[in-house]
Amino acid sequence: MLPVLMFGAIALSVLILRAGGPDLPFVLLGAVLVLALAWILISSLNPARADRTCPECGEEALERLDPATTRGVVCSRCGHTDRDVSSWYLAEEETTLEEIVLAERGRVSGLEPEKLARPTDSSPNTEITE
Ligand SMILES: [Zn+2]
Repeated sequence: MLPVLMFGAIALSVLILRAGGPDLPFVLLGAVLVLALAWILISSLNPARADRTCPECGEEALERLDPATTRGVVCSRCGHTDRDVSSWYLAEEETTLEEIVLAERGRVSGLEPEKLARPTDSSPNTEITE
């Protein structure tokens, strides 16, 4: 089946080139480039926003459950609470994520973030044993 599809694609492209003339590949390339630039422009002028729609009542009232983490949301209208859902996008809009990520990393590993940054033994491993 795959060879038939390949030959079909080649035959279709030859037909399109014959119908569109020798300038068609450049027109298609230009269209693809214009589409990519338009996509970048639209995305930068209209950046993504966090979805705060509550699944229970449908109001735009979701807030982060705990300001120290990026987990859990609570609805300020109906009180709907979900402790497991990610609130990463809400935190991204409201605060700097770096402090939360570093604090959670230290919490998961059981170490303080400062202890991770500094090695306990700074002596070089150059002991010669004979
Ligand atoms: Zn709600």
